[in-house]
Amino acid sequence: MKNTILIVGAGFAGSVVARELAEAGHRLLVIDRRPHIAGNAYDEYDAYGVLIHRYGPHLFHTNAECIFQWLSRFTDWHDYEHRVLAEVDGQRLPIPINRSTLNRLYGLDLDEAGVVAYLEQVHEPRDPIRTSEDVVLNSVGHDLCEKFFRGYTRKQWGLDLSELSAGVAARIPTRSNDDDRYFTDVFQALPKDGYTRLFERMLDHPNISVRLNTDYAAIRGQLKPRHTVYTGPIDAYFDYRFGKLPYRSLRFEHEHLSDTEWFQPVGTVNYPNDHAYTRITEFKHATGQTHPGTSIVREYPQAEGDPYYPIPRPENEARYQQYKALAEAEPGVTFVGRLAQYRYYNMDQVVGAALKSAEMIKERLNND
Ligand code: FAD
Ligand code: UDP
Repeated sequence: MKNTILIVGAGFAGSVVARELAEAGHRLLVIDRRPHIAGNAYDEYDAYGVLIHRYGPHLFHTNAECIFQWLSRFTDWHDYEHRVLAEVDGQRLPIPINRSTLNRLYGLDLDEAGVVAYLEQVHEPRDPIRTSEDVVLNSVGHDLCEKFFRGYTRKQWGLDLSELSAGVAARIPTRSNDDDRYFTDVFQALPKDGYTRLFERMLDHPNISVRLNTDYAAIRGQLKPRHTVYTGPIDAYFDYRFGKLPYRSLRFEHEHLSDTEWFQPVGTVNYPNDHAYTRITEFKHATGQTHPGTSIVREYPQAEGDPYYPIPRPENEARYQQYKALAEAEPGVTFVGRLAQYRYYNMDQVVGAALKSAEMIKERLNND
């Protein structure tokens, strides 16, 4: 192990750093406690032959051409623009809220200027904007907040909008036009042969070894790596010294419908006000696969279980900052990724953070 760099976690953060360092001539051991690579982006064919995302829908989108190009070394792409409907008052309406959402919900016939004027009238100006409630009330006002955001957020996070930082709800814009795409990024696509295949190619390098079903906690005392890159939860690394950092979890209920070619009209339908699940995703919309049946997933938020989401609110950020100070003082270890940096990162942001970390590690090892 003396000259080997240890990477804890085979998701985007760990695998991108591994590839970059391998190409710079370093030897790497990548471990993951799960029985597979690709982290939460893992996809697989289910028992019926439909390509599904085991840990919920993963739609790649970015405005960063360099990140898209970097990943393109390991995959071709299937172009896909995600669309989402929210079931509200017995109708399925576009979310993000757009012109058609308002016209159909309220039986109006507004043009774009009419939408701007309508929102101007109903919105509740907030200054400063600190919480997710401020964001939503400031842009769409009370009624739309209750119908589209309050219930969904309560289910997803177990918290009120007012208890979450502004960045959570700020992910969802409001539009006066008819654009019904969930994302407006320049690059929107899924890896043509799936995420797992992309990761297989990324990790396929003579300098990289991968060991699955291996928990860092079980081996950390035994190894003496030249450097460690840790992408798991930061509080676990430090044995919860400052208390647990809350991460929100989900239970995924996968289902295959063999006699149904299409279950719903778009990739995802959100249920802000009904049911224990937040949303249902039908994978074939996103992957473009042809199949006589279809596979869907329902997401049930929960407090316990695998950590999926950092929970952005000031008290958690304060605790994270305590851990971050320890991390910065930890010799020979780099912390990167959604769990290790406690950031509500999308995949492209994790790739960006990992490329940056790899550059820093290369420089540091060259100066050793
Ligand atoms: P992870 O993918 O979580 O990888 C970390 C890995 O470390 C895991 O495999 C874990 O098993 C391993 N690990 C942790 N601790 C240990 C240990 N002690 N020992 C060994 N291994 C360990 N992003 C988008 O851009 N678009 C989307 O549409 C999208 N949808 C999402 C939907 C859901 C339901 C979720 C949960 C996330 C979604 N994301 C999406 C975010 C995306 O999943 C993350 O940005 C990305 O996967 C984070 O990569 P990572 O490597 O930081 O973490
Ligand atoms: N949100 C909501 N209603 C919706 C969609 C989103 O209230 O119909 C809020 C909710 O708080 C959610 C956040 O906006 O957690 C971010 O939504 P996004 O779809 O980006 O969540 P993710 O895909 O990361 O789970």
